[in-house]
Amino acid sequence: MAKIDDDRSGALVTKDSSSPACPIKGCTDTTWYADAHDIEYHTSDRTYSFHKCQRCDVLFIVPMLWDRLEEIYPKTYYSYAPKKLGIVLRQRSLDRRVLKVLASIPGDRLSVLDIGSGSGWMLDQIKSCSSRVGFTQCVDLDEGAQAQAVARGHAYHLGRIEQFETDRRFDLVLALGLIEHVRDPALVLRRIEGLLTAHGRVLIQTPNFDALDARLFRHCSWAGYHTPRHFVLFNRQSFTDLAKQSGLGVVSFSYIQSPGYWSVSVLGAMRRLGLIEISAQRPPYHHPLNPLLRASFAAFEFARTPFARLSQMVFTLGRR
Ligand SMILES: [Zn+2]
Repeated sequence: MAKIDDDRSGALVTKDSSSPACPIKGCTDTTWYADAHDIEYHTSDRTYSFHKCQRCDVLFIVPMLWDRLEEIYPKTYYSYAPKKLGIVLRQRSLDRRVLKVLASIPGDRLSVLDIGSGSGWMLDQIKSCSSRVGFTQCVDLDEGAQAQAVARGHAYHLGRIEQFETDRRFDLVLALGLIEHVRDPALVLRRIEGLLTAHGRVLIQTPNFDALDARLFRHCSWAGYHTPRHFVLFNRQSFTDLAKQSGLGVVSFSYIQSPGYWSVSVLGAMRRLGLIEISAQRPPYHHPLNPLLRASFAAFEFARTPFARLSQMVFTLGRR
């Protein structure tokens, strides 16, 4: 069945079907899963749909506004301000994982690549913790971060990872909160695989649409949809399958909590009920209930950690 590019949605569609094809393999066996709105930044009032590929077991957004990033990422977007407390706390728990993976990689002068690095603040931390890290590379679309990254001693590629050309191979590649934002996750994983040394490792963090909060808030703009900025969402099995198809095997895996997803989802539901006001001027992160909700759900998720499928997944991958 012939596939064409749909200019409006960015998703592949078949000529004789109105169902959008999945962005992983262009499968046509897809069904509507949920509607969702931008409940965080209110970049528009439009309704987006998430569809599920029955073969690949992934969710993907329609329309996928991959060519309108300036529109869907407002200037106030949180990753542009990584020093804010919530983000720092979330990343701190990841630092231990990064350092553990780094310690497992042999070599005296390691090269580390951070995709979606911003100004390279995580690479700063990695360098300060390991004298074996000799080269650090940032890849990001943020023009404003380039000068800071270079001043801190990192190489910087302004652009997408798909366009990053280098002869260098990396011992560690970080793609934290990245793969769900890209139009073609399989292409990005193949690109990452091609950048790895023989013993190299990739650390990936991405939301889990099989989590309890994802199921409870499926039809209430679950915060993990991050509408319209998350394009493709996975569960443990579907991401593992995609990694394998891209030449990467799972070395280790863990679920991690995301109390922010719970809090924003609850605040979004309260807004729908008319109980509170959330708007572009007053986003959920600034609502006075947010800290209390986050703390409560952090405790709830901590209690469930040993046996539950939590809201985010962390994969360590290596070449197969
Ligand atoms: Zn598919």
